[in-house]
Order: sequence, then structure tokens, then C-alpha cells
Amino acid sequence: MPLLSPTDTADLIACTECDALYRAVQPLPGEQAVCARCHHVLIRPRRFAGMRIIMLAATMLILITGAMFFPFLRIEVQGLSNSASILDAALAFAGGRLAVLAFVTAALILLIPALRMVLLLYVLVPVVFDRVPARHAREAFRLTEMLKPWSMAEIFALGCAVSLVKVGDLAQIEFGPAFWMFSGLVIVVVIQETFMCSWSIWKSLDSQST
Ligand SMILES: [Zn+2]
Repeated sequence: MPLLSPTDTADLIACTECDALYRAVQPLPGEQAVCARCHHVLIRPRRFAGMRIIMLAATMLILITGAMFFPFLRIEVQGLSNSASILDAALAFAGGRLAVLAFVTAALILLIPALRMVLLLYVLVPVVFDRVPARHAREAFRLTEMLKPWSMAEIFALGCAVSLVKVGDLAQIEFGPAFWMFSGLVIVVVIQETFMCSWSIWKSLDSQST
């Protein structure tokens, strides 16, 4: 069986769901490339996607920063009330045996999503404005892709919504600004996903670095 040369493999694309291998063809405007075996979307170029992803990444950074410091919720039981931000909650465990858990939680819901957005801006801003890609842009983009499963801000927001419904029976709960920022974050994450097309970003990194 003949070995493939690097020029042959350059335009190969693998389905991330079922590992089927295809020769990538740039879809026409408005079209998308779908895996024939499992119907997973492989390539979905969108007009002005780069600019929109940049805007959404900046929005997410602002929301994450706000969500960290503003009060998340206020609980009132029999006249006693207490409000706390997520940072307060994480720091409350910092000294004790749960310090590792507190740090991992804070990392998964705040630090990793924030880091991903910073890296995405670093990679995309030069590409979208037709500049030479930033140094180590490929490594940075690979890292954003790797961190994606560990970015759990939206999972946290959903988890909170479920648990708060349960606590709601026992105490009076008021949602703080950070809660609404997290809710906004969930929506922004979903919108950003619809514009993200890794293949298109890799391709533009390739074409501008040569
Ligand atoms: Zn597939």
C-alpha cells in the first residue's frame, strides 16, 4: 500500500465523532460538509464568523469577570441573610481540606473558560484583520480545542438552576447579578458554537502563515 505524502494528507479531514476520513472540499457559501456515516457537521463556514466569534469571546470575558466578583445569590432564612460571590465561595474552602476541590471548581467554571477566550482572541484577531498570525497561534488554537471539554461554565449554571429550585423550598433566595451573568454566558456559549468552525480557522492559519 503506497504511503501518503504530506501534500496528500494536508486536505484530509477526520470526523471527530466516528473517525471516518474524508478529503476536505471547501463548501460553497451557505452549504456545510456533513459526515456521510454519522451526519456530524465537519465544516460549516459562516460569513463574518471570525468577527462574530471575536465579539462573543470579548462578551464572555466581561461576563466571566463580572460573574466572579458580583454576588451570585442571597439566601434569607428566618430573618438572617447572607450573600456571596463565586470567588467568596471558592475562597471559603481555600484553607481547609477541600482546598483542592475549591481550586478545581473555580478553574473549571471560571479560569478555563476565560483562558480559552483569551487564546481565541489571540489567534483570531490577527487572522480576521488580515495580519500575519500571532506567534505560536497554532499551538494556542490547539490548546483552546483541547480545553473545550473542560470549560464548564454553562454546566455549572445549569447545575445551579437545578439545585436552587430544590433549596428554594427551605429558604428565600434572591439571585444576584452574577447569576444573570452566568445565564447570559450559557446563551453566548451556544451562539458562539454555531459560528465556530475549527476547519476554517485552521485553514486560514495555514494560508496566512505561508
Ligand atoms: Zn462521522
